[in-house]
Order: sequence, then C-alpha cells, then structure tokens
Amino acid sequence: MKIINMLITNKTARPGTRITPRGLVIHWTANEGKGADAVANRNYFDRPTTEASAHYCVDDKQIVRCLPENEMGYHVGAKLYKTDALKRLSSYPNNCTIGIEMCVNKDGDFQKMYQTTLELATDILKRYGWGVDHLWRHYDITGKNCPAYFVTDSFAERFFGQSAEKAWEKFKGDVQTILTGNPQKNQPNVVKVSIEINGVHLPAQGYLKDGVSHLPVRAVAEAFGGKVEWCAETKQVKVSGQDLTETIESGVSYAPARELSAALNLQVEWHGTTKTVKLKGCVCE
Ligand SMILES: [Zn+2]
Repeated sequence: MKIINMLITNKTARPGTRITPRGLVIHWTANEGKGADAVANRNYFDRPTTEASAHYCVDDKQIVRCLPENEMGYHVGAKLYKTDALKRLSSYPNNCTIGIEMCVNKDGDFQKMYQTTLELATDILKRYGWGVDHLWRHYDITGKNCPAYFVTDSFAERFFGQSAEKAWEKFKGDVQTILTGNPQKNQPNVVKVSIEINGVHLPAQGYLKDGVSHLPVRAVAEAFGGKVEWCAETKQVKVSGQDLTETIESGVSYAPARELSAALNLQVEWHGTTKTVKLKGCVCE
C-alpha cells in the first residue's frame, strides 16, 4: 500500500480544525474521465475556489493523502443529515469523520483501485480499533448518491454485476476479511452497551452492531420474570413463547433490543451519549 503525502494548502478546503475521528466515510469522485486520478482530485481540492476535500484519494496506482486524519475535511456537509448519522456521529459529521475518495477514471484499473481502497480502509479501522460498523457511505449520512455503485442498482450492476446493497455488503465483507481473516457474521462489534432496568443498572452488558443494540437474552428476560426456552435441536431461543433472531457469542445468546423488549412487553429507550439501553416494564413474579 503506497501512500504519498500531498497535503493541500487551500484554506477554503482545509480549515485546520482539529478532529477526533469516529467513522470512515467512503466516496467516489463520480468522474470517469481520463486522467481523473488521485493526484488530479487532490489538485482539484487545492484550487483556491474549491470548498470540498477528503483525507485520501485512491486510484489504481497509489493513495494520495490530502489532509491529516486529525484535521477536518469538507466531504459530508449537508443541510440535513440522517437520524442514524446524527445519533452515532455528531450534528456536523465533517467534524468527526475521515473521508476516502475512490477514483473511477476510465484510464485506471477499477479492480486495483478497489483493492487499494480496501487496504486503506482496513488500515484505518485497525489503527482506530473500529469494526466495519464504523464504515459509512456518504449516502448513509446525507442521502447523496455517493458512491453511486453502492447506492444505485444501475451503477452497481455496471461496476459489480450485482445490486447496490449487495455491492456495499461485499465491500464491508471484504474489509472484514482482511481485518480479521474471518467472515463478518462471527464478529460482533466490540462497542459495549450498558443496560438499565427500571432505572437500575444491570451487570450484564450488550453490544452495538451496525447501529443495532443486542442484549443478553437470559439476563434481561430473567430480570423481568420472562420465560426463556432454549431448543438445542434448532438452536432457537424463545422468550415468553416468542422466537427471537439471536446471535450466540461466547456461549451467551443476544437478541436485538427491540425484539427482546417486544417479547417481554417492555418500553425501550436508547441513550446514545452513554450507550445505554433503558428498559421499563412490569417485573412479574
Ligand atoms: Zn461523497
């Protein structure tokens, strides 16, 4: 992985504001013209009139670093942001994200550029101790059609021969494979989630994966007097007679907070700042 430093100096695209990154945003340049490679995009950011920037531009030859990772770029600004981005990033996601531009110049080798992007993204995730749930499409934050081949099926068909959703899942899966050597399904997010039951802190913890909090089924159900059944044959967990889509981690089964709370007839609230799931309901005897 070859990274060359070509930091931009244009102040309208590089304000010099310090940031603490909390996520990695994937973009495409949308420019399929000849020569629209990483250096060309970097040079575009450095024009005095350009108000856009990203930390890296990737083409089939190299990675160009345009901004230090601890400085703010202008790559996901918008009038409106999606709820999940506001919840998990900030009210102004430029101030806590690293941006990568994928170059699609037609005189470049798309597959090589894709592979190089995977390597860079994996390297960043590793350094910050993040899972693939810290990967965002520009689309996920603002709704912009970027990168179009991970958002719009017609583009995805042309670049990957599959739907946009599948192409994006594959990208995350490819990063996951390099990250751990394991497929994604066995890698829960390491972000721990605290649990409060009727205002009382539960010793057991859950975890956050892809923005969904998962709670330990038995610990929560028993706190509310719910009946937990386990069928060894089908490896299915039932709570108060209802099936749950559970995940087993180190012998403990976890279920999405919303499913579990519905089965137990609980109110559920998510507190993003403290990463706490608050459950309220009747504790049956
Ligand atoms: Zn973008």
